[in-house]
Amino acid sequence: MAQAIYPRVAIIGCGLIGSSLLRAVQANGAAGELVAYDGSAEVRARVRDLAIADRVAETTQEAVADADLVIFAVPVMAMGQAAADAAPALKAGATVSDVGSVKAAVSEALMAAVPDSVFVVPGHPIAGTEQSGPDAGFAELFHNRWTILTPLAREDEPYLDAVQQLCDFWTALGSRVERMDDRHHDLVLAVTSHLPHLIAYNIVGTAADLEEVTQAEVMKFSAGGFRDFTRIAASDPTMWRDVFLTNKDAVLEILGRFTEDLQALSRAIRWGDGDKLFDLFSRTREIRRGVIQAGQESAEPNFGRDRR
Ligand code: NAP
Repeated sequence: MAQAIYPRVAIIGCGLIGSSLLRAVQANGAAGELVAYDGSAEVRARVRDLAIADRVAETTQEAVADADLVIFAVPVMAMGQAAADAAPALKAGATVSDVGSVKAAVSEALMAAVPDSVFVVPGHPIAGTEQSGPDAGFAELFHNRWTILTPLAREDEPYLDAVQQLCDFWTALGSRVERMDDRHHDLVLAVTSHLPHLIAYNIVGTAADLEEVTQAEVMKFSAGGFRDFTRIAASDPTMWRDVFLTNKDAVLEILGRFTEDLQALSRAIRWGDGDKLFDLFSRTREIRRGVIQAGQESAEPNFGRDRR
């Protein structure tokens, strides 16, 4: 087993991502001691049963006391409150991070809640499934997936060391790590994740409202492409509500571009412009090949799940 990267790690929020982190850290020994906390008593009991932490705390403050790394794995709009709950017990010199799908808003919320004596290094593993809760997690979730860290604009050595240590931690979990400005992260993810989810939610909603097509027909003939949208549209409602409310500007900007392109496609279909359709579909086929070449799609069942 690898050497511990932090003597004590606390994970706050033990749903899909938090429980995957617990399992991954436990599997490779990246922490000397692993402490978990979740706001739900039911989830805490389940984490104890699963035995995926050394200790399950009864309060946020108990969990973070003396922790060298604290990772918040709660919904984006719950980050500020969770960090405020933890703040009085955070150890000076600890690293405070998160796994939220939106970075600028979370970074602001963390900075507003915690004392200056800790190092805030926000993060986002681009790995997930449409499932939620502690039973949905698995240790290999982060293998070969990117984790984006969005460090603050600080150049002092202690802070840079804290960022490097967090990079080492994610690398130990099997992840590839990239550093990025938080606003740029939010724009990139608006294209690669947030807009696709919005489209899936919308198309499944539209199909459900169509009067000429029965629900039974929608289910029966879903293999024609609709099925993949239903999987994405089954993603956690709380998580995704928070993503759209906190990454509003970037999502609206990308949605504007998307709507213009959709209008152009609509025109091409109306006027029978087959060349335009064929050109676009050929270009998008190349993009799919690029995704496969980048190793972000795999044939292994566990890794063929939805990523965000
Ligand atoms: P999840 O399965 O719903 O788990 C979240 C857990 O956090 C729940 O057990 C929730 O309890 C608990 N919680 C909420 N507020 C809390 C608080 N203040 N203190 C302690 N625990 C609290 O969610 P998830 O999918 O793991 O997502 C967690 C974070 O990861 C989100 O920020 C999301 O954007 C990010 N993320 C998700 C994915 C994905 O694919 N799911 C991928 C990458 C990143 P209650 O249910 O009782 O509220």
